[in-house]
Amino acid sequence: MTTTNIHPVSLVGAGPGDPELLTLGALRRLQAADVILTDELADPRVLALANPLARVLNVGKRGGRPSTNQRFIHELMIREACSGAKVVRLKGGDPFVFGRGGEEADALRAEGIEVEVVNGITAGLAAPASIGIPVTDRRCTPGVALVTGHNGESGRTPDWAALARSGLTLVIYMGVARCEAIVAALRDGGMRADMPAAVVASARTPKQRHAIGTLAGLPALLQTDPSLASPAILVIGEVVNLAALVSDLPLQHAAAAG
Ligand code: SAH
Repeated sequence: MTTTNIHPVSLVGAGPGDPELLTLGALRRLQAADVILTDELADPRVLALANPLARVLNVGKRGGRPSTNQRFIHELMIREACSGAKVVRLKGGDPFVFGRGGEEADALRAEGIEVEVVNGITAGLAAPASIGIPVTDRRCTPGVALVTGHNGESGRTPDWAALARSGLTLVIYMGVARCEAIVAALRDGGMRADMPAAVVASARTPKQRHAIGTLAGLPALLQTDPSLASPAILVIGEVVNLAALVSDLPLQHAAAAG
């Protein structure tokens, strides 16, 4: 009688783009993988470092009903893991930051499959840093909030008024489409119109773009420059002023520069 050896499934963070930002753990899992389930946010340059014999399955969510697709992803991961394959579930940024990594881990564990999480650098930290913005700085903020700008299926949206009063740096994922409503909600909560704000699109990829302005000016910034479109991070808070202190961006595309 033979028993199939089931390997733990690795939920691996691919970081925001540039493979220089991968962890060693991520690289090792990619090199050892038999099957890689990836989504559209994982950079092709990261996939290029994987085991060349690995099967790469793109399970991006474009054009489908998200809940159906999510179930499909769970079933696929379970099937591959049960067949004895070393499965890597590769996700943009960090798998546990707005990545549905928690839901995927639950689905696997419910089938008795072990899960390991390999952190990645989340876009909400990489994007501000790429233009010299520290998300916390004791001179101007006691902390940072990572929030979604998307009206989730669960209907749980951030309490914008409370965030406006919090004094925290706001790092907003998935906020481009609803930028106008978010700005209005923050203004209603008492945040000043000239609070510094930035948008960083496609951070740490060759398509990176950014713009710096004010809270009230953010919607117009996005409207006038379509290259700032999603995927983009909005950063709101006094720390945005510190971007100006950085004269050049030595880390950016360091790999390309050789
Ligand atoms: N798990 C991911 C986030 C997935 S949610 C992470 O930790 O980074 C998708 C959102 O992430 C996008 O709408 C955008 O707001 C942000 N995002 C992902 N990659 C990005 C990038 N390279 N530059 C800017 N924002 C990015």
